[in-house]
Amino acid sequence: MNDFAGLVAADMPRIRAELEELVRIPGCAFPGFPDADIQRACDKVVEILTDAGYASVRRLEIEGGKPAVLAEAPGPPGSPTVLLYAHYDVQPGGDESLWSSPPFEPTERAGRLYGRGAADDKSGVVIHAAVMRAFQGRPPCTVRVVVEGEEEWGGPFEQYPRSHPEVFAADAIVVADVGNARVGEPTFTTALRGMAAVTVHCRTLQGAVHSGMFGGPAPDALMALIGLLATLRDADGETAIDGITGFEWDGAQFDEQDFRELAGVEPDQPLVGQGTVASRLFSKPVVNVTGLDAPPTQGAINAVIPQATARVSLRVPPGQDAVAARDALVQHLQTRAPWGISVSVTPEAVGQGVRVDTDGPAYAAARAAMHEAYGKPAQEIGAGGSIPLIDSLRAAVPGAEILLFGAQDPMARIHAPNESVDLAELEKAVLAQTLFLQNFGLSKDR
Ligand SMILES: [Zn+2]
Repeated sequence: MNDFAGLVAADMPRIRAELEELVRIPGCAFPGFPDADIQRACDKVVEILTDAGYASVRRLEIEGGKPAVLAEAPGPPGSPTVLLYAHYDVQPGGDESLWSSPPFEPTERAGRLYGRGAADDKSGVVIHAAVMRAFQGRPPCTVRVVVEGEEEWGGPFEQYPRSHPEVFAADAIVVADVGNARVGEPTFTTALRGMAAVTVHCRTLQGAVHSGMFGGPAPDALMALIGLLATLRDADGETAIDGITGFEWDGAQFDEQDFRELAGVEPDQPLVGQGTVASRLFSKPVVNVTGLDAPPTQGAINAVIPQATARVSLRVPPGQDAVAARDALVQHLQTRAPWGISVSVTPEAVGQGVRVDTDGPAYAAARAAMHEAYGKPAQEIGAGGSIPLIDSLRAAVPGAEILLFGAQDPMARIHAPNESVDLAELEKAVLAQTLFLQNFGLSKDR
């Protein structure tokens, strides 16, 4: 019996050192950021996976996008194949003055390592490297790794699995770009909301006119647009669009006070909507207005506004087709403007949500692994955000079980200033993934 816990604990200095090396490279795939940083980050991933003992490691050039890294280590004959996914690109550091330590200088405070990408998702990269060291390059199942370089940007890699399913062929796929419901609580993410967005434009006049001379019969485009936007929620704040319905969440619940603190809700303001916080967050739709083009209040004059534009973002319940949900949103906006006003609606691309099946042998192996690594049974949560790649993976490898677990947690502040990873959590995440590969490689009921 291998002492995996001891092996992983002894490996932590190296795991951390590799994570720090990665954090120091500000590889951001968004247009306008230096491609040289992405290339350096990609080279570093190749180096780390090679040193970890993967038998083959190569760069994969993505047309019109950023390079990915593929690695593979064969398991014993007849053993299953597990694909491990992570991404090495990061969000920009943003306003450095909001960081307690510079975003690309890894810094430890109170057991957490701070830096852009320390959690999202360079933690995933070092986990996939560390598990191979735990098996000294001889894993109990065939292990494939795909580390992409444009997840945050949403580049063409998202569609790559559909056109190259052979690269992703596996019995189980682990997406280490998520984390636990709270530190020390082992958690699988089993549902992700999809997303859709549209821009709605209202034009009523050829130009602004004096509100005293024309106001009244002259149609106010801004008020019409606001009236239309207000119909997207009911009196309780529930999203109210015909054809889009969520469901009650039956996994782990979300404490209301925790939510208030994490979201930074002002103490005198209510939470919005009906049902449990978990249902509202994981399994129900929500529509938000994320942008509004209208004259600013500074310098506003007494005029009837001739045109206004809003961007409307929709989170789609897991399991519902995001295209159908977007079409329902468009239909709503085109037919519900007040006073007979007409608007034009421009749809954007959608990201499909996911509801994963948790009945298979890989889940059984992973549940046992999580229990052993954390000393308690794992729970299931949804995620309010979306990982569009997963839909593409499901299309490419329809038979594979998809498991989402990793080293992030709600305190990780991903995409925000002061992103961090809890180092003890990172160690447990490495152990859990190691034990999963061990359990799954040995499991008989495949
Ligand atoms: Zn991520």
